[in-house]
Order: sequence, then C-alpha cells, then structure tokens
Amino acid sequence: MKSIDQVDISGKRVLIRVDFNVPIDASGNVADDTRIKAHFPTIGYCLDRNAKVVLMSHMGRPKGARVDKLSLRPVAERLAKLMEKQILFVDDCIGEKAEAAVAAMKGGDIVLLENLRFHIGDEKNESEFARALAGLCDVYIDDAFAVSHRKAASNAAITEFVKVCAAGFLLKNEIDYFQKAMGNPERPLVAIIGGAKVSDKIGVLENLIEKVDRLIVGGGMAFTFLNALGYEVGNSLCEKEMLDKAKSIMEKAKSKGVKLCLPVDCVVAEKASADAEAKVCSVEEIPKNSMGLDIGPATTALFSESLKDAKTVVWNGPMGMFEIDKFSKGTYEVASSVAASGALSIIGGGDTDSAVHRAGVSSKISYISTGGGAFLELLEGKTMPAVEALEKCGDKS
Ligand code: AMP
Repeated sequence: MKSIDQVDISGKRVLIRVDFNVPIDASGNVADDTRIKAHFPTIGYCLDRNAKVVLMSHMGRPKGARVDKLSLRPVAERLAKLMEKQILFVDDCIGEKAEAAVAAMKGGDIVLLENLRFHIGDEKNESEFARALAGLCDVYIDDAFAVSHRKAASNAAITEFVKVCAAGFLLKNEIDYFQKAMGNPERPLVAIIGGAKVSDKIGVLENLIEKVDRLIVGGGMAFTFLNALGYEVGNSLCEKEMLDKAKSIMEKAKSKGVKLCLPVDCVVAEKASADAEAKVCSVEEIPKNSMGLDIGPATTALFSESLKDAKTVVWNGPMGMFEIDKFSKGTYEVASSVAASGALSIIGGGDTDSAVHRAGVSSKISYISTGGGAFLELLEGKTMPAVEALEKCGDKS
C-alpha cells in the first residue's frame, strides 16, 4: 500500500475519503470534533503542497435519501473554524455542482462534498457512482480507517477508476501500529478483551488465542467463561449458547501455553443502576439474585500483575459497566496499569477510548484507534477490503 508521501500531489486535485461521521447536537452543531481533527495531518500535508483538497465523507445512515439532519454542512462550518480557513461546501458529492466547484478550485483551496450516502451507490460499491467521484480528482487518498472494513464506492470501487491512489497518514498510522502490535510484536504480547458479550467477540478471541502470550478477559463476557468453568454466576450476563466456545478457547489456551486471566472476584449488585447497593465478592460466591458489574480488587491486582512486564498490549472493551461510577473502578485501574506498563499499547473501540480518557491516561497510550468495527475486524485477523483495494491500485500507479 502506497502512502500519501510516496505520490506526487503538488498542485493536483486530491480527493480524500475522510471519516467526518461526527455526533451532531440538538442545535445542529458538531458535538465532538475529534474525528475531524484526526485528518489534519493528511489535509495539512496536501495544503503545504498547494494541492486542491476535495474532502468526501459519510454521515449516519440515510440509505440513499437526502436527509437534512445528516448533512455535512455543520462539519464544513466547524472545519472552517478549526482551520481558520474558508471551506466551500457543495450540497452534492457528484454531478454538475461538484464538478463545477472542483473545476473552479485553486491550489490550497478546500471543498467539502455533501454526504456520500445521500446516494445509494456508495454503500452498494457501485461502479458508476465510483467513476463519478473519481472524475473529481487526479489523486485519490483514503484516510478513513473507521470504514475500511466495509466495501463502498468511495473506498473500494473508486480505486479502479483513479490513476494514482494512496493511504493518508491516519489510515497508514492505524495499519502500521496494528502491524507493530500483532505482526511481529515485542513479547510478552498481552491482549485485554472486555465488553458485554462473548458472541460479539468470539472471532477476536479465537484469533488472539493463536497470537498472544496472555489473554485477559473481563467485562460481562467473563461470566460466560466462569460459568463454563462451573461457577454459578447469578444474574450476571451469561450466554449459555457460548459455553462450548468458551470451553474450547480455554482448552486452546492450555494447549498453546497461553496464560488466560479471568476474574477471581467481582463487584455485584442486584440491579445495574447508580442507586444499587454494590459489594465485592469472590467468583465462587456470586449471590443468586445479583449480577457481576465490575471486576473486584483482587482481579484488578491480578490483571495489573499480568500487565507489568508486558512489552505489547492490545485492548478492546471495558472491564465492567463503567458508565456507572460505582462499576467503573476496574476499567480505570486496568487503564492505569496499561499506561504504567510502558508497553507499546494499542486500544480500540469507543468505550475503551472513553475509559482511557476518563482515567486520565490517554497520553500514555501509544495509539488510540479511530475505528471501532474496523479495529475489531483487524483483531479478528480479517483483511480490510478498502486496504486491499488500495494495495491493488498502488501497484498500477
Ligand atoms: P462491547 O460493545 O461489547 O465492548 O460492550 C460494552 C458494554 O459492555 C458497555 O456498555 C458496558 O457497560 C458493558 N459491560 C461491561 N461489563 C459488563 C458487565 N459485567 N455486565 C453488563 N454489562 C457490562
């Protein structure tokens, strides 16, 4: 896969697939601009080379219809403020208006096109739609890691119609860091997987068990593992239909010499709410009418010990229902232990991202992925269709 610094963009029309799928508040303004800022290295690099920068993105799921509240116009306004620069917003992403706007651009200008998904052709990866987008540029840059696990016209089919294409710095960074962690990692490599259900992350667990030295399992999903070991887990999240899968992962761990770390105690309550009475108990003593909603202090100590000498850590999913303060301690303490380990640490997923920020350790994490679903699919060992398309296209340019 070529990266943007390996292709000539000077003075050219550069079409960048970004991910500006940001939350919009009730008054129609951008509520969080983290995703916008994540593309600044790529956009800035193009501006420094006097390129004509055309940005395209999706927002939400309008399914081929024009939906006013999913317009990218507020993003154009925020982008203009952040960059202290005029941004021309075009209310369609293909067709005459887009073509005319791009034709009138000068070097250093920025155009933001309207939501790609107002046309059904994007999500359907349609050639005609891709050809129309490709007509707007000399060079195509994909910088939208968060959607690279799904084929769309704006990140897959388009590569068949452009002469030059490459990855932007955000996409390249995501893939490079992931490769560093999972390709040929410095060991011990420790994975931490948490969150609600085993069934959502079974592919991740099955792939990781083949690669890691230690696997830490926390969150709701740990109770399915504990139940598979014969523990009664009361009203905790437990997927009976996943018990065999959990057993087979534990057997695999044994046969491969992978250390599987499960909770030994937990914070339980009769209900998952802020006013519930919470107490700590060992996993052997979970009351019938209670549910485990966080890992307990002995587990935190155990997990922290497993992280101490780690050289590489990958983490997805909270250790408990961390949205509620009284069930958040385990997740924050694990975040602190990851930060303190000094390991190359890569985390992904919205909850994990927000947990390391709330724990105040985000600056000590080596890389925070911008992709939830895409990050999980990388952890599952899947190839990214958009990255494959870029690789193929890079060969011809
Ligand atoms: P996921 O999207 O699979 O990473 O799951 C994240 C969700 O799992 C968060 O909303 C947490 O509140 C929830 N979660 C984590 N631990 C537990 C638990 N022990 N019981 C119920 N929900 C949990």
